[in-house]
Order: sequence, then structure tokens, then C-alpha cells
Amino acid sequence: MEDYKQLESTTTKTYIRDGRSPIPKRESISIVMSANKAKNSKPEIYLRKALWKENMRGYRIHPKKISGRPDIAFTSKNIALFVNGCFWHRCPHCKLELPKTNQGFWRKKFEANMARDKNKIKELKSKGWICIVIWECEIKKNVSNVVKKLKKNYANCFSNGIFHE
Ligand SMILES: [Zn+2]
Repeated sequence: MEDYKQLESTTTKTYIRDGRSPIPKRESISIVMSANKAKNSKPEIYLRKALWKENMRGYRIHPKKISGRPDIAFTSKNIALFVNGCFWHRCPHCKLELPKTNQGFWRKKFEANMARDKNKIKELKSKGWICIVIWECEIKKNVSNVVKKLKKNYANCFSNGIFHE
């Protein structure tokens, strides 16, 4: 399979900057900020490719009718995958520092993001869904490990052929 770097260089997309965000000083931050706004982020695409390859199919992408619009939803099994960017959703593994400037803004922004994530999951769980958060860094590090873990941990949910729908 093509590796993550290669995918990054071959996937092109136009991002729209969030006008409320402070203007970033460095281009790298600007890219991360705008990437947050886009559905079908690179980690998402990369994970979907890996799922597909492992015959874990039959999922819907950002389904409108499912609350919280999970990134990947196995609707017949009520399993939702949320692919979270480490910067925006405050990954517990990466523990990224706050940007140096406009810290008040960032703190509020991140708190709002995390609250939104929590509420989405709470609502879906109350409707009987299994919710799984997958971090960008886990995908970057070893996507086949992520898929392997999913297969193993949720084997009972997937035992009757959903992978091959
Ligand atoms: Zn991370």
C-alpha cells in the first residue's frame, strides 16, 4: 500500500480558512487550521483505504441521518468511527502545546471542540451505538495496526459478514 507521505503528496484539496481564527504566523499552522474544516481528511481517507483492503466494508461516510455525522459509520452494526485530528481535538497521546499566541482564543476553541466531540458520542451511545475514536497519529504511525485492533476488539459485532456486505 502507498504510504502516508505519498498519499499526502498526491491528495489535493482546497481548504477554506475559518475567518474567525487569528491569522497564523507560520504556514504550517495555517495548513493544520484549515485542514480541520475539511471532511474527508487525509487520515480518514487513509483509514478507509485500509478498511476496504481488509474487507471491512459496508460503511457509510458522514451520514446525514445519524446524529453527530460520524466519519465512518457501520450503520447495520451501529458502530461509529470518529477520526480525530490531534491538534484540533487535543489528542491525549500527543498532548500538543497551545499555540504561543492568542492562547485565550485557542483554549476556548479547543474546549468547544472537545465538548462537541463528547456530546456527539454521548448522544450516539444513548441510541445504542458503539463509538470509537481513532487519532490521526495512530493512523500515521501504523494504520494496519488500527484496523487489526478494530477487527480483534469488535470481532463479535462483525462476525456475520458485515465486512463483506
Ligand atoms: Zn495524536
